[in-house]
Amino acid sequence: MNQSPYEIRKCLYCLKPKNHLLRKKKGFKSDFTKEHVMHDALLPREFTDAPTLVGRICGECNTNNFGNTIDRELTRSGYEGFQRYKAGIKPTSKLNELKQGGLGFGVQPPGMDEYIPANVIHKDDQGILTTKIEPFLLVYSRRQGKKIQIKLSDISTINSLAQKEDLDLEQFTFGTNGSEADDQKLISALKAQGIDILASISETQPSALLITEYAPSSEMIRALAKIAFNYFALICEKTEPSVPLMSDFDEIREFIKSGTEPAGVFFIMQGAGLLRGNVGDHSAVLKYSDDSSAPAVIVQVSIFNCFTYSFVLSRQPRSANFPEPQAHKWDLKKKRFGRIPLNLLIPTSER
Ligand SMILES: [Zn+2]
Repeated sequence: MNQSPYEIRKCLYCLKPKNHLLRKKKGFKSDFTKEHVMHDALLPREFTDAPTLVGRICGECNTNNFGNTIDRELTRSGYEGFQRYKAGIKPTSKLNELKQGGLGFGVQPPGMDEYIPANVIHKDDQGILTTKIEPFLLVYSRRQGKKIQIKLSDISTINSLAQKEDLDLEQFTFGTNGSEADDQKLISALKAQGIDILASISETQPSALLITEYAPSSEMIRALAKIAFNYFALICEKTEPSVPLMSDFDEIREFIKSGTEPAGVFFIMQGAGLLRGNVGDHSAVLKYSDDSSAPAVIVQVSIFNCFTYSFVLSRQPRSANFPEPQAHKWDLKKKRFGRIPLNLLIPTSER
């Protein structure tokens, strides 16, 4: 008669025992909330079977410790935040929410061998995100013995800069990526400072705008580590759901919660995705290092298949009840989640 509708479970993150409501019942509330393994803000709205963890993460952790902090940081800044708009997951009308988050772009001006950092402007072009460089000039500084960059918005200071840097004002390289309209803006700005240029040599081959730098913040790395640990917990659901509660994982848990880093190298970021082919899907893989002198439980996560983030979840030897190595992807076109063969992944050595 008085059987409790609750089961006591420990939260994956705070490890506190809490009430899990086994099935919906009027007047009863669960302490646990549904957690998306991959943050749902990184998935298209119609994604049908995005995996979730039910009865594993308490409402307090979900909302206060993660949702309003590290999760928001990941989905609104850096490459992941930027790519949400590119992939059409986030409407470009909300571009004002996007933060730079350690993401840097570069261009290759004519006559230069290397990419140099460029300021970019993200614009809402009728619902499509377009990224343009802020026009700039390269001018030779006799003081520094090299060309230096002057952004369009800084041209108003060019005369004082010319004295300080001993600039060669006879030759300018236009960093406009082939846009004649931007050339004209630079010419006008120079004219306003009394420097007359009649014409620019237009670039025939504008260089591609590349991501040349990405240094995600500690908050973003914690949010990525949470995706990795959630993924591990998800695949443990089918074998032994209590495995992620083991003390083996206390260090990574602590990092996700507070930012205290585990001992040794526990995080590596690589500039290529996990999946073969140029697909922009999310993926994750569970691996083990069975080297007896350096055992490790490793989960790698790749968002939009651009960068790969590898996390050491534990340095303890793999127990018998741990799941086998495996990989999954969130297919953003088919809007389906599923297991994929390990040979669909790019070998680590090529990444
Ligand atoms: Zn909790």
